[in-house]
Amino acid sequence: MNICVFCSSSNGIDNFYFQQAEELGKLIALQGFSLVYGGANVGLMEHLATSVKKNNGKVIGIIPQKIHDFELSSNVPDELIVTPNMEKRKRLMRDKSDAFIALPGGFGTLEEILEVITLRQLDYHHCPIVFLNTNGFFNHLFKQFELSFSESFAKESYRKLYYVASTPTETMEYIRNFKHEEFETKWFNVPEK
Ligand code: AMP
Repeated sequence: MNICVFCSSSNGIDNFYFQQAEELGKLIALQGFSLVYGGANVGLMEHLATSVKKNNGKVIGIIPQKIHDFELSSNVPDELIVTPNMEKRKRLMRDKSDAFIALPGGFGTLEEILEVITLRQLDYHHCPIVFLNTNGFFNHLFKQFELSFSESFAKESYRKLYYVASTPTETMEYIRNFKHEEFETKWFNVPEK
């Protein structure tokens, strides 16, 4: 099983975030999974991939040509795939993966994890999606989600689209035990005005 992790490209963040990425990488490898990720040699991405590799796990990096040309590709992956653009890269990351995790990150991470949530909402896939909420990093985002539920921009049942974990162990437990559950999809039951 391939696990896709979206995470920060920043090197300037607190050590605590790096420690959690390292711990997650270790568990991915020791539990027999492979990592699919952004393939860059920066931030949590490089740290996570190094940890998977160190623990004898397989690493697949998928990076767009433009970032590859900036010499930001990592040497860690067993397989590095260079795509013509960001769209194809994200598509391939999704197509190759059976589960998705967001570690703390900036705009890139948010865009990627929200896209997989949106696609699950529309029934394009049935994969588990987990926020590893290190240090409560995503709490403000969850408040925004609550507003979407209370103002009826999203159905309450969509809380089940994603899981919030506090530790790498809890993240992996959820993924290992995950069973897809059918629930209302977005367009089949539009609430009346
Ligand atoms: P950010 O959260 O803005 O740091 O972006 C990180 C996410 O976006 C990662 O999951 C990557 O897939 C992608 N990304 C952003 N910057 C880069 C980069 N320099 N190299 C590779 N991927 C990147």
